[in-house]
Amino acid sequence: AKAVGRRTSMRYDAAMDLDVQRRATLSAALRTVLDRNELSMVYQPRLSLNGGHIAGVEALLRWHSPEHGQIHPTQFIPLTEENGMILEIGQWALREACRALATWRSAGLMDIPIAVNVSSLQLLRGDFPQVVERVLAQTGIPANRLELELTESVLMDNPAESSVSLQQFRRLGVNLAIDDFGTGYSSLSYLKRLPITMLKIDKEFIDDLPRDTDDAAITTTIIAMGHSLGLTVVAEGVETASQAQWLRDHRCDEIQGYWLAEPMPAESIAQFVQARSWA
Ligand code: C2E
Ligand code: CA
Ligand code: CA
Ligand code: CA
Repeated sequence: AKAVGRRTSMRYDAAMDLDVQRRATLSAALRTVLDRNELSMVYQPRLSLNGGHIAGVEALLRWHSPEHGQIHPTQFIPLTEENGMILEIGQWALREACRALATWRSAGLMDIPIAVNVSSLQLLRGDFPQVVERVLAQTGIPANRLELELTESVLMDNPAESSVSLQQFRRLGVNLAIDDFGTGYSSLSYLKRLPITMLKIDKEFIDDLPRDTDDAAITTTIIAMGHSLGLTVVAEGVETASQAQWLRDHRCDEIQGYWLAEPMPAESIAQFVQARSWA
């Protein structure tokens, strides 16, 4: 019953909790965040359960407003999608993440893939593959060091348009991940046709592992399905050693979550990854 309930519920949108006035105020403030330098990126590592090495880092946006304080991305990203600022902000985030990786690479600190979240509005712009290609060229990052994280809903709502962009990315050599996997409606046959390389199992299914037998069954099934399609399977939101152990026992490829590390600023992540790779 639990699994069925999930399938009919929408993904939680924290911006909905804000009152009308607050939404309008924040939405207006978001129009100038780039000019005023109020955005920054933090980075969260993923651990390979096979090799024990750091398999990649995910870039996540942070907004610190002098007037409004620290605003959570689940609150401000939906507002930027409403007012259209996500196009500029998303491009800024992509460039910032690639620039950070370029700095780490040239300092000989680390050379692992960087994952960037992509909103549906960005993907549906026909020129998005060119935007990405340009940022890669400008920062000197090889395409195979970039992973784009897309949610199921954008792929399912606009299958034709998104499939064209996805094919272009794969031709470039950019890796594609499905984020929050399990919360949407992807069918197996649909997944098989998409040129994706990775599934990220939503935290919702990981939270009550290993105790919850429904979640254990769902997770085991997603791992088996992902592997049968040749995909790397990542568990998100892993907070405990027993979750990590269970996921290793059940052949999940990689884990991400507070148990390994919280998202951290650019300066700290390079150190973290280096310390890990010598361990
Ligand atoms: P997401 O892509 O699913 O990112 C994972 C979120 O889970 C991050 O929240 C991360 O800090 C959090 N997290 C990671 N491990 C754990 C854990 O063990 N426990 C708990 N409780 N949380 C964990 P964050 O950074 O607040 O981002 C929230 C969402 O905002 C992201 O979810 C993503 O959908 C969106 N977002 C963030 N940055 C960007 C961006 O640059 N572009 C776009 N389009 N969306 C972004
Ligand atoms: Ca993500
Ligand atoms: Ca996610
Ligand atoms: Ca969840």
